[in-house]
Amino acid sequence: MQASGNDNQIIWLQAEAPAKPHIGQACNGCGVCCAAEPCPVARVFLRQMRGTCRALEWHADVSQYRCGMLLRPAHYLFLLPRFLETRFRSLIRRWIAAGVACDSDAYID
Ligand code: SF4
Ligand code: SF4
Repeated sequence: MQASGNDNQIIWLQAEAPAKPHIGQACNGCGVCCAAEPCPVARVFLRQMRGTCRALEWHADVSQYRCGMLLRPAHYLFLLPRFLETRFRSLIRRWIAAGVACDSDAYID
């Protein structure tokens, strides 16, 4: 699959993933944004500056991509104590605006 934002880029997604909605429509977990580049959360906490975010998880049961940093941050941040995980998740939810409209201007060829 080829996604285009500011530049052409090849990204790989599950064939069963939903098609990317238009910007402003409800997020459907298509995974395009996180496959195209790491968000600020990934840049800061995972130290990943380019490529598909390593916390992007495919959930075959719902045929959607999900943010692993939101679902199970301690899996990705080995120094995060378990007792802080719930608090950290609520912060991540706010930072990545989970469940809000799609804010990715990438388009698929
Ligand atoms: S924000 Fe948009 S591109 Fe990112 S997973 Fe949701 S629908 Fe897909
Ligand atoms: S941290 Fe989550 S929201 Fe950010 S790029 Fe990775 S999977 Fe996507």
